[in-house]
Amino acid sequence: MVPSFLDPRHRPFDTPVRSVLFIRLTLVFAAYFLAGRIGLAVPFTSANVSPVWPPAGIALAAVLVWGYQMWPAVLLGAFLVNFFSPIPHAAAFGIALGNTCSALVAAWLLRRTPGFRPALPRLQDVFALVLLGALSTTVAATIGVTTLNAAGVRPWSGFISAWLIWWLGDAMGVVVIAPLILSFSRLARLHGELRLEFAGLVSAAFGVSFLVFDHRLGLGVADNVLAFMVFPFVIWAAIRFGIAGSAVVSALVAGVAIWATAAGLGPFVQPNPIRGATLLQVFLGVISVSGLALAAVSAEREAVESALQTVQELARWRERAEKALRSSEQRLSGIVNSAMDAIITVDRLQRVVLFNSAAERIFRCPAADAIGRDLDHFIPARFRDAHRHHIQSFDETGVTTRSMYSPRALFGLRSDGEEFPIEATISQVESEGQKLYTVILRDVTLRRQAEEALVKSEKLASAGRLAATIAHEINNPLAAVTNLLYLARCEENLPEAARQRLQLADTELRRVAHITKQTLGFYRDESAPVRFDPAELLDDVLALLETRVKAREVAVEKRYRAHLHVLGSQGEIRQVFSNVISNAIEAVQPGGRLHIKVSSSRDWRSPASCDWRSPAGPGVRISFADTGHGIAPENLERIFEPFFTTKKDAGTGLGLWVCRQIVDKHGGSIRLRSRTTPLRPGTVFSIFLPVAAVFENKKRVANQS
Ligand code: ADP
Ligand code: MG
Repeated sequence: MVPSFLDPRHRPFDTPVRSVLFIRLTLVFAAYFLAGRIGLAVPFTSANVSPVWPPAGIALAAVLVWGYQMWPAVLLGAFLVNFFSPIPHAAAFGIALGNTCSALVAAWLLRRTPGFRPALPRLQDVFALVLLGALSTTVAATIGVTTLNAAGVRPWSGFISAWLIWWLGDAMGVVVIAPLILSFSRLARLHGELRLEFAGLVSAAFGVSFLVFDHRLGLGVADNVLAFMVFPFVIWAAIRFGIAGSAVVSALVAGVAIWATAAGLGPFVQPNPIRGATLLQVFLGVISVSGLALAAVSAEREAVESALQTVQELARWRERAEKALRSSEQRLSGIVNSAMDAIITVDRLQRVVLFNSAAERIFRCPAADAIGRDLDHFIPARFRDAHRHHIQSFDETGVTTRSMYSPRALFGLRSDGEEFPIEATISQVESEGQKLYTVILRDVTLRRQAEEALVKSEKLASAGRLAATIAHEINNPLAAVTNLLYLARCEENLPEAARQRLQLADTELRRVAHITKQTLGFYRDESAPVRFDPAELLDDVLALLETRVKAREVAVEKRYRAHLHVLGSQGEIRQVFSNVISNAIEAVQPGGRLHIKVSSSRDWRSPASCDWRSPAGPGVRISFADTGHGIAPENLERIFEPFFTTKKDAGTGLGLWVCRQIVDKHGGSIRLRSRTTPLRPGTVFSIFLPVAAVFENKKRVANQS
C-alpha cells in the first residue's frame, strides 16, 4: 500500500503541513538525483545528453501531484546531478534552471487543461500528458543545450542535433516515467490471481527484452525488426492492467533497451550514435504512447461496459420492482373486490375513483357508471351538506381513520332511489400530492330489521303478560257476574224483555270469559311435563270438535306415520291442536278438507333462528293442511300477533299467539304456508315438537315462510 501522503489521490494541490512538505521535497529530490545519476550513467552520445531522461518524468509527476512547491527539490536535484559531472558549475545551474522551468511549465499547462485528470483514466488525459509534456520539455532542451554551448562544453555546430536528442530524451522521460508514477498506486490494488499474472507478465517482458537486445543470449541479433517482439507484452499489460501496467512494461523495456544500447548491444547500436539514439527514442516513444493509448481506450471501454452493466442491473431492478408492485396491486385489488363491505374512494372534489364489487352490489350500480361521479349520487339529498361538512372537518383534523357520525344517522342511496341504513368508517391518505378519502361501509338493513323485530316481540311479550294478568284478575268477578246473571234469569216474575236482555248479557259475558280463558291458557298449565303421543292427543281433540266438524261438513283425513312420545305439557299442546284445527274448520267452505299428518322429523332450524350450530334434534312434525280461503299475504306477518283477527267479533285473535308461545316454550317451531289463489287456496300449518321438549323460554324471531 502506498503511504497516504504519497498517494496522488490524497488531497492533491492542497497545502500540506510543514513536515509532510519536507518529506515530499526530500523524496522528490532523492528520486530526481538518483534517476539523474542513472540517466547520466548511460550516455552514449556525449556527456550530459541522455536518450531517456527519467528525472523529467519524476519532476513533472511531482509538481503535478504535490504542487509547484516541489520546485526547490527539482532545482537542487538537477543542479547536483550536473554538479558532479565534468561541466562548469554555472552550466550545471543553467541546466537545473531549465529542467525546473520545464516541469513547472508542463504542470501549469496540464492543470489549465479543462477536465485533465492526473490519474490518466481517459484517452484525452494520456494525449494531454504526452503532447503538453513533450511541448514543455523544449524549454529544458533549449536552456540546457544553450548553456552547454555557452559554457564551451559543446560546439555550437552540433546545436540542432544535441537539442533534438535532449528534447527527445526529456520527452521520453515524461512519456515513460510520469505515467508510471501517476498510476503506480493502482497496482497496489491488484490481488490474488491478477498479482500472479502481473508478475508473469513482468518476467516475460523482461526476458524477451533481454533476448531482443542482448545478442549474447543467442536470439538477439542486430536486427531492428526483432525489437517489436516486446509489443505483445505492452498490449497484454495495457489491456489487463491499464495505464499502470503498460507504464511498468514500457519503463522495463526502456530500461533494458537503454542499458543494452549503452553497452553496445542490440538493434539500436548504429555506426552513427546520434542516429541510433534517435531510433531508440522513437522506438521507446511508440511503445510507450501506444501502450498508454490502448490502456486508456480499454479503460474507457470497461467504464462504458460497467456503466452499461449498471444500467442493465438498474433496469432489471426496476423490472423486478414493477413486477412486485403489479402483484401487490393485484393482491390488493383482489382483497378490495372480495370484501363484503363496500369500499369507495373519492378524491378531494369527492369524485369516485374506486368502487369495489360489494359497492356495486349494495348501491346496485356498476363500477363503470360510478367512477367519476360525485359521491352525492350515493347519499340521500337531505344528508349531502352534512356529509360534505363532515369530510371537510375530517380533512382538517389530519386523523387518518375514524368512523362516520353516530351509527344511526347514516343512510345510503341506491341507484334505484331506495334509501338504506349504513355504518361506515372513513380514512384519508395523500398519494402523489393528491388527497384521497376511502369510505368503507356496510348495508345494515337486515340487522336493523332484526333489531326492530326483536323490540317488537319484546313489546308483544310484555303486552301478552299484561293481558294475562288482567284476564286473571277479571276471571273471578266474571264468574260471580255469570252466577248472578244465572240467578237473575231464574227469577219467576221476570218480564220477558228483561229476560232477553239478561240472555244477551249472558252471551256477551261468555264471550269475555272465552277471551280471558284463551289469554290465560298459556300461563295456567303449571303441571309437571309428561310423556305423550301427539297422535293420540290429536284423536282426543278431534273427538271433542266432532260436532263442529260435522256441522261445517269438513272431511278430516288423518295420516299418522309416527308414534313418538314427546315430553311436555299435554294440556297446552291440546290447546295448540284445538286452536289450529278450529281455525282450519272456520276457514274451509262446507265440503272442504283437512289433512292431518304426523311424522318423525328433525329440527332443521330456520336461518332466522341464527343458531346453525345447535344440533338437529329428533322430534315429531304435525302438519294441518286445509282447503280453506287461505291467508292474504299482507296478513301473513301479523297472524301471530295477539288480538289480530279477520273474524271481527267472532274471533279474539289470541289463538295463534297462544299457540306460538306454547310451541316456543316446548322448544319447537311453528311455520305456515298459505295460498289465496282462487283455484286452489289453502293453508298448511306445520308444528315441530322435539322429542325431549324442554321448557325454556326461548325468544324466537318470526319464522313463518
Ligand atoms: P282468531 O281465530 O280468533 O281470529 P287466531 O289467532 O286463531 O285468531 O287466528 C288469527 C287469524 O289468522 C284469523 O283471524 C285468520 O284470519 C287467520 N287464520 C288462522 N288460521 C287460518 C286458516 N287455517 N286459514 C285461513 N286463515 C287462518
Ligand atoms: Mg282462532
